[in-house]
Amino acid sequence: MSISAKGHVCGLLAYPVGHSLSPDMHNYFSEKLGIDEVYIPLETAPEDLGAAIKGAWAMGFLGMNVTIPHKQAVIKELSEIDISAKLVGAVNTLVRTQKGYKGYNTDLYGLTKSIKERGLKLSGCEAILIGAGGAAAAAAAMLLNEGAKHIYIINRTAKRARGLSDRVNELSGRELAKSLSYDELSLIKGYKSSEGNKRYIIIQSTNIGMSPHTDEAPILDAAFYAMAHTAVEIIFNPRSTLFMKLSEEAGATTIGGLKMLLYQGVKAYELWNNVKLSDEIIDGAYRMMKERLR
Ligand code: NAP
Repeated sequence: MSISAKGHVCGLLAYPVGHSLSPDMHNYFSEKLGIDEVYIPLETAPEDLGAAIKGAWAMGFLGMNVTIPHKQAVIKELSEIDISAKLVGAVNTLVRTQKGYKGYNTDLYGLTKSIKERGLKLSGCEAILIGAGGAAAAAAAMLLNEGAKHIYIINRTAKRARGLSDRVNELSGRELAKSLSYDELSLIKGYKSSEGNKRYIIIQSTNIGMSPHTDEAPILDAAFYAMAHTAVEIIFNPRSTLFMKLSEEAGATTIGGLKMLLYQGVKAYELWNNVKLSDEIIDGAYRMMKERLR
């Protein structure tokens, strides 16, 4: 990869940055399109976030991704946020404008596309969402946007599950979501009965099962998985988690998190560079990312 003195800079604000496929993905796009741009990791402590955004602006950075723990805190540093970020209540992509950085949430687009490309209809669906953090907020916004019929939100910290379900109910103007603890699975309609068989789309959006803790899943109860027609995993490393294995054993179709990662990155790249990536380049990036995860 080569970059000229006039090249653009984009990057990933996180703390810690840890393992990330985003630099590989974005630099692949620039290389394939012949765009003079580099994407770099920008490890930034929470107390330095404001200074980092001002510095990036002063140095002419074209755009940034933000992830844990900055997705909500970054909002106050931005000139505006678009509807996707308003819906989720968090930002993962900053786009340079005349006035400052504008915030978007491309996780919402990435998750929705990764599910719809598998032919699943979300309108009228009944869903169970595990987790209530930033990724869960994107999943909840997707379900709201697409017209889900009902959502159960299960989380370790009850206050956070209640906060997310209250937000969904406020935005939808009805009792769309109900929060539960892990001890309250029996309150799910159809649990341990034929009525519950393959009724739900279940979305796993916690950190549980992420590499290197690959022998963990948020729920081990087989009766829980029997309720899934489709199980969506937000974790992308490993590519097949214990949650996915338990879902498959119960007969559900599974969707892993790597496509979500890919499509949120595609959307961010297209926003920064005002281009449309071809299917061929997107497929090439996906194959490269799969290879990196081996
Ligand atoms: P977050 O805001 O910190 O939320 C973490 C969630 O996991 C919370 O619901 C938390 O529950 C739960 N959790 C964590 N450790 C737990 C434990 N030991 N027991 C029970 N619950 C636990 O993080 P996030 O941004 O939502 O990210 C979550 C996962 O999604 C990460 O693995 C991330 O890599 C992945 N992700 C993937 C993509 C993609 O493109 N595929 C995009 C975004 C995120 P509490 O509220 O009780 O703490």
